Amino acid sequence: MTLLLNGFELAGQCRASLAEKIKTLPRAPKLAVVLVGSDPASAVYVKNKEKAAGEVGIESAVYRFETITQTELLSLIARLNADNEIDGILVQLPLPDGINEKEILQAIDPAKDVDGFHPLNLGKLMIGEPAPIACTPKGCLKLIHQAKQDLSGLNAVVIGRSVIVGKPMAQLLLKENCTVTMAHSKTQNLPELCRSADILVAAVGKPKTVKADWIKKGAIVIDVGINRLENGKLCGDVDFENCFDKCSAITPVPRGVGPMTIAMLLENTAEAFCRHTGIDF
Ligand code: NAD
Repeated sequence: MTLLLNGFELAGQCRASLAEKIKTLPRAPKLAVVLVGSDPASAVYVKNKEKAAGEVGIESAVYRFETITQTELLSLIARLNADNEIDGILVQLPLPDGINEKEILQAIDPAKDVDGFHPLNLGKLMIGEPAPIACTPKGCLKLIHQAKQDLSGLNAVVIGRSVIVGKPMAQLLLKENCTVTMAHSKTQNLPELCRSADILVAAVGKPKTVKADWIKKGAIVIDVGINRLENGKLCGDVDFENCFDKCSAITPVPRGVGPMTIAMLLENTAEAFCRHTGIDF
């Protein structure tokens, strides 16, 4: 029988337990969210994050700008870094053309980096030191652990090598003692490679890329992709209907990885609060 990895339910549990812990704190953790430009999807993401934060007792301050210069944005980040009342900082991506995204992300105090995108934190992940971990891969790992606790010695294939999903995902699986292969747009014989995977993570951004005959029987399959079809429906990078029976566990889209990403952002904010205040919970 295939286990449906319900990220919506698991995220709900993570948020409920976080809310209980936050109630015991002397003050609410505070997250600064910076939104630049007029991308409607980014505006929706920020609204959802703000709402989710409020529901667990995290205060958020949203800084919205239609336009802003690189210098102005850098000076806002410097102010937020120095602000003792701010525990975590998130800059909603993508930033509009004309803004140097890398420079902005590097300007965030690594201790307040709730997205885990700062090079120092990515480097710490690589050398196995504790650091804020990117929300999506962190959520994926929690989903994988719903299916299996000990991942040691398993073959994992991660399709996609982005800095926000694929690369940190591969590092996390390596830390779990998996044998990890990273695949990408130039990989040859992708179906064959996938057939060796006990754990398959798809972060491609192309609908139904992973077909049923790419799946090893009993594999755990995590679908990170969010693709909007012409009929308006959302679909993942995995051909869910046809792959389902071959997997031991699989995430749906929607209600799989997406809700976990937000739950992990809230966890990362609470962890940033602990680092900042020295209060542990
Ligand atoms: P990206 O565009 O930065 O990276 C895509 C990767 O896929 C690249 O490394 C590329 O080499 C690889 N790729 C492209 N075509 C391929 C092919 N035919 N075969 C093999 N590899 C191929 O994307 P990203 O930011 O990593 O996001 C990937 C997907 O995950 C997108 O659909 C995005 O919307 C989704 N996403 C979801 C969440 C979530 O919370 N659920 C979070 C982040 C991203």
